[in-house]
Amino acid sequence: MVDILPEETPLWQSMETAALEVLSSYGYSEMRLPIIESTDLFARSIGEVTDIVEKEMYTFADRNDDSMTLRPEGTAGCVRAVVQHNLAVTPQRLWYMGPMFRYERPQKGRQRQFHQLGVEAFGVATPDQDAELIAICRQLWRRLGVDDALQLEINNIGSADDRARYRDALVAYLSQHRNQLDADSQRRLESNPLRILDSKSPDTQAVLDGAPGLQDYLDDTTQSEFQVLLGYLDALGVRYVLNPRLVRGLDYYNKTVFEWTTEHLGAQSTVCGGGRYDSLVETFGGKATPAAGFAVGLERLTLLMQALDITVSTPADLYVITADENAYQHSLPRLDALRRQFPDIDIVQHLGGGSFKSQFKRADKSGAAWALVYGEAEVAAGQVTLKPLRAEAEQQTIPDAELEAFLAGYLATAQSA
Ligand code: ATP
Ligand code: MG
Repeated sequence: MVDILPEETPLWQSMETAALEVLSSYGYSEMRLPIIESTDLFARSIGEVTDIVEKEMYTFADRNDDSMTLRPEGTAGCVRAVVQHNLAVTPQRLWYMGPMFRYERPQKGRQRQFHQLGVEAFGVATPDQDAELIAICRQLWRRLGVDDALQLEINNIGSADDRARYRDALVAYLSQHRNQLDADSQRRLESNPLRILDSKSPDTQAVLDGAPGLQDYLDDTTQSEFQVLLGYLDALGVRYVLNPRLVRGLDYYNKTVFEWTTEHLGAQSTVCGGGRYDSLVETFGGKATPAAGFAVGLERLTLLMQALDITVSTPADLYVITADENAYQHSLPRLDALRRQFPDIDIVQHLGGGSFKSQFKRADKSGAAWALVYGEAEVAAGQVTLKPLRAEAEQQTIPDAELEAFLAGYLATAQSA
C-alpha cells in the first residue's frame, strides 16, 4: 500500500477536478459508497471463479463473525446501493471515486490499495449508452492530455445464452489440447473456460489461435447492435481496435466490453476497463435493469501522465515577508482582507520570524511568483514592496492601498497565460 505524497497530490487533484467537471457536464451524479461490504456480494457478482474472488480479496470476520471484504472494485457496491435505495430509474447516471483493495503482487501499476474512478449508468439497453460512456472517457483523456497515448480496444461478448453455446464449443476444442495449456487454464477448462481467452501464457495463446471464435456464436440482434455502436464511435471520431480475445476478468459483463490501453506503461497497460452488465441489478434482487459502466485505474493514469511529462505544480503566488513583530501585526488584517477579496490568489505567509535574508531564502525556495515585503520603512510609510521571484519584472514599492489594483492585474495576466 502506497502513500501519496504532497509532490504527487497536484496530479491527483487535477484528475479529480477533471473527472468532476467532465462527469457533471454529462449529467452524472456522484455517489459515496462504503469501503467494506459483505463478502458474498462480491462472490455473487464478480464470480466465484475469477482472479479477484479466488485469490485477491481482503476478507475478514468481523466481531460478529460475519464475513466482510474490503471492496476490490466498485460496481458491486454501487449496484447494491442502487437496488437498496430504489435508484434504478431510467436513466440513472452515477459515478464514484475511491480506494479499492486486492491482494496482488505489488509492482509498477499494481498495488494492494489502489484507486478507481467508476462510472455506472442504469436503465438504457441501447448502444447510445455505450457510446456515451466511451465518449466520456475520451473527454477525460483529452482534459488530462493523454488522449493520443490511449487506444480503445473493444469486443462484443454477446448474451449469457450466446456464451453458453460458445463455451461448449471452446471446451470441446481446448480439451483436445489440454496438455499444451498452462496450469491455471487447465483448471479453468471445467470452472470458467471463457477466462482462458484472457490467459497471458504464450503457449495457451498459441492453442487459442486455432480455437473457434465467439463471434460465430452471437445472435443477430447482438451483432447488429454492436455494429450500431461502432457507427456511433465512427461518428464521434473515436478510433478503436476490435479485439476478439477481450473478455474482461469479471463474470458480470455481457455484450459490449472495452479497455483503454497504452504502450507507455509496460505490462500494466490497461488504464480503464468497462462494458455492459445487464443482469447484475436483477442478480441483486432489483427489477431487471440494463446497465453499463467503466472503471479508470487512477494510479496507472498518473503513471501515464508522468510518462508523458505532464506536470501539474501549484506554487504560491505571493510569499509574505515581515521585518519584525510590528510589521507582522500590521500585515495580519491586510492579508486577511486580501485573501477574502482574491480567493484565487495563493498567499503564503512566512512564519517563525528570522532575518530578512533567511526569509528571502525561503521565499525563493517556495517557488512563489512574488515576495510581498513589509519592512520597517514600508510600515511607517503605509507602503509595501513587491519583489519578483520568478517573473521578469522590476521590484517596486507602492502605497499599500494600491495592492488590490496590483493583484487584480496579476490575476488577469495569470489567467490569460
Ligand atoms: P489487470 O488485468 O491489469 O489485472 P483487471 O482486469 O484486474 O486489470 P479491472 O478489475 O478491470 O482490472 O479494474 C479496472 C482498472 O483498475 C484496471 O484497468 C487498472 O487500471 C486498475 N487496476 C486494477 N487492479 C489494480 C491494481 N492492483 N493496482 C492498480 N490499478 C489496478
Ligand atoms: Mg487484475
